[in-house]
Amino acid sequence: MSYKVRFVNPAKNYQMIKDEIDRAYFEVMSKGDLIDRGQLRSFEENLAEFVGTKYAVGLNSGYDALHMSLRAAGIGPGDEVIVPAHTFVATCSAVVNVGAAPVLVDVTKDFNIDVDKIEEALSEKTRAIIPVHLSGYMADMPRVMKIAEEYSLVVIEDACQSLGSGINGKMAGSWGLTGCWSFYPFKILGGYGDGGAITTNDPDVALFATRMRYNGEDRETGEYHGHGFTCLLDNLQAAFLDVKLRHLPAWIVRRKQIADRYRAALSDIPGLLLPHYDKPGFDHIYQNYTVRSKQGNDFSEYLKKNGVEILTQFRKPYYKHEALKLVDRGFPETEAISREVCSLPMNVEITDEEIDYVIKTVRSFYGL
Ligand SMILES: *Cc1c(COP(=O)(O)O)cnc(C)c1O
Repeated sequence: MSYKVRFVNPAKNYQMIKDEIDRAYFEVMSKGDLIDRGQLRSFEENLAEFVGTKYAVGLNSGYDALHMSLRAAGIGPGDEVIVPAHTFVATCSAVVNVGAAPVLVDVTKDFNIDVDKIEEALSEKTRAIIPVHLSGYMADMPRVMKIAEEYSLVVIEDACQSLGSGINGKMAGSWGLTGCWSFYPFKILGGYGDGGAITTNDPDVALFATRMRYNGEDRETGEYHGHGFTCLLDNLQAAFLDVKLRHLPAWIVRRKQIADRYRAALSDIPGLLLPHYDKPGFDHIYQNYTVRSKQGNDFSEYLKKNGVEILTQFRKPYYKHEALKLVDRGFPETEAISREVCSLPMNVEITDEEIDYVIKTVRSFYGL
């Protein structure tokens, strides 16, 4: 299907920064700097500074960041980990793949974990909480940290959708033992292939990840410090990401402008819930602009039919996929969200005319 307005437009985004990206490419290629070189170091330093942590360690994906964090925290068989029922499946799969048991907790209207429901999900075996900051808006971290402290739990932030967000100026990814990042192409900071990282203030965690991402090897001594993995962020991707990170603050400003336009034009529609919340101090950087339409599929199909490319993550909650063998304890908010979600185009390539077209199409669905 050919869309009038694309959900994202990576080729157009490339054109916006082509000179810088091409320069980074030629620099890496002409030197043959493919693995673990200066570009990776530079990106890690800049990422840590941006997030406000001492360390950042580049990995191969957001999944790897979650997996590495759980390993670093020593979580494994016999342990339970709290995860939200509404998230990308990788949050949960990382827990399962270290041999621990995920315990799902419903979310609230802001799409993030319902902190009021965490305590009833704890058991003697609970070792960690993975709050997810979905779509660019953070989970209620002051309250999550308080519970974690009270019950001596490790906090691993799945911040894959919230680079640049914060609460009262304290950035996503700087609250827990680690912040987990994905640089999947369509994330707010997207590479040209898979990529990820952790941020942390803990030197032992940073060292652990730095070795284990490279099969456990200390690259200076050649000593293996454990059975590790191959999940190092590519040097070439790091070079590209370093370029894009410099643009991120301005890009976040643009995303907020787009969100304001949507809000001004759509907030009068009954039956359409917009992603604007009023928790004081909480920032929203709009990785996604996810609305909730009572009309569910009718709404999302109408937009598609009229040339607006949208995303409906996730119509089927991950715990309902049989092969994952997860326990559905009943998550009413997640179920309602799943029926109603529809993410409108939100990217820095989009033109004002395209935004106006999206707005017009949404309004016409509602007969306005
Ligand atoms: C994208 C994403 C991940 C996984 O990142 P990958 O780089 O694709 O492995 C994990 N959690 C959330 C919330 C994400 O959005």
